[in-house]
Amino acid sequence: MKVMKFGGTSVGKPRRMQEVANLINRDEESKIVVLSALSGTTNALVEISESLSRGDRAEAKLQIDALHEHYKNFVDELLSESESRNKANEVLDEHFEFLTIILKISFSQALNKDILAQGELLSTKLFSIYLGEKKVSHVLLPALDFMTIDSYDEPQVGTIKVKLAQLLNKHKDTNVFITQGYISRNSKGEVDNLKRGGSDYSASLIAAAINASVCEIWTDIDGMHNNDPRVVEKTKAIEQLSFEEAAELAYFGAKILHPASIWPAHFFNVPVRLLNTMQPDAKGTLIAEKAGSVGVKAVAAKDGITAIKIKSSRMLLAYGFLRKVFEVFEKHRTSIDMITTSEVAVSVTIDDDVHLPEISKELEAFGTVEVDTNQTIVSIVGNEIAETKDVMKKIFDALEPIPVRMVSYGGSRHNISLLIARADKEITLQLLNKGLFDL
Ligand code: ADP
Ligand code: ASP
Ligand code: MG
Repeated sequence: MKVMKFGGTSVGKPRRMQEVANLINRDEESKIVVLSALSGTTNALVEISESLSRGDRAEAKLQIDALHEHYKNFVDELLSESESRNKANEVLDEHFEFLTIILKISFSQALNKDILAQGELLSTKLFSIYLGEKKVSHVLLPALDFMTIDSYDEPQVGTIKVKLAQLLNKHKDTNVFITQGYISRNSKGEVDNLKRGGSDYSASLIAAAINASVCEIWTDIDGMHNNDPRVVEKTKAIEQLSFEEAAELAYFGAKILHPASIWPAHFFNVPVRLLNTMQPDAKGTLIAEKAGSVGVKAVAAKDGITAIKIKSSRMLLAYGFLRKVFEVFEKHRTSIDMITTSEVAVSVTIDDDVHLPEISKELEAFGTVEVDTNQTIVSIVGNEIAETKDVMKKIFDALEPIPVRMVSYGGSRHNISLLIARADKEITLQLLNKGLFDL
């Protein structure tokens, strides 16, 4: 059994959704098809939620009506039989009625999650009706019946595995299952989600849970590229990456994959393929145990980073200092991405600054604290790059005009990370493209 995940652009237009039906029918292998919301929908739902949280119900109503209109047109184009169109319009009425009812309810975080879940619920139901029209036999598996996260927002693979196996067991003769990406149930039993872009994570978790032959991530580009195609003009697809390399790229900003989406597949050794819905026969990228080749493969960038420097003369020759510093971050459940130390100072970066005020205050007990916001981590990822000749020279030659705030080298064999100001990101990625890949 395999997993096929289709992202927002792959189902965002009626024609594309019809194409997905062809893609899932190209082979006989049984499969779980994971769908995202239609492109633009989750953003629209976020906006509706924001209007409601501001108490601006009139604006929320306008946004809900505009989205409803979009879906009515989508259904008209997607389906050709009146019976299936009626069914689809009933689905739309049900979900948009729900959105209209919540206009009257006071806003809460739980309600916000319910609103955000509507996109994937809609896309899968509409796709199921289309498959029905095309006489493709299938079963719609509600993700909310098996995808669970604990009180720390961590997916519970063990529980997912058991629940999913029970559901699949009820449909032994079924070859095609459809389910929602992104959405989950939390420890309180409420509707929740795996954070933006989370459908990749759902796909990988499902692939791990069923020990899939492969986890296919179908998107709008022909695989992982060597650099961010939104920022750099000339980029090229990478044929093969190890799980470690792919995990670093995803974590450090390559948007094609959700930051946490590689670990479940890696842990259960399920190969991942990144494929292009627009060019289904293109090779794409294979992510597996082996890296395929040695050396630098790609560059990625992660924005929204805060750097914190703690300077203290008491650190000189003292032991236990770093432990105390780390304990502050641990206490506030804030993970550190990069770290560099000197004899009298330690610099760390975080990407979640929700607890920054408390953290800074507590760190002041150890010395002077300096905070720089709006930073970007640029990661250079590859296989055994720390051992690859000339890499550092090429990086520093290329980045001659860029002030680099921190460098992390040697922490792993797959990654060299640099911290720069967000304002220098575009030029940094472009210079590295020339210096490292000659593109
Ligand atoms: P989906 O909706 O299918 O999940 P995403 O928009 O989340 O698609 O991810 C695909 C996009 O990721 C591409 O269109 C591309 O612009 C962006 N992207 C950023 N970095 C990379 C990279 N290194 N390689 C490929 N795509 C990347
Ligand atoms: N629809 C969700 C989002 O836009 C999840 C996903 O597309 O992966 O973030
Ligand atoms: Mg995505």
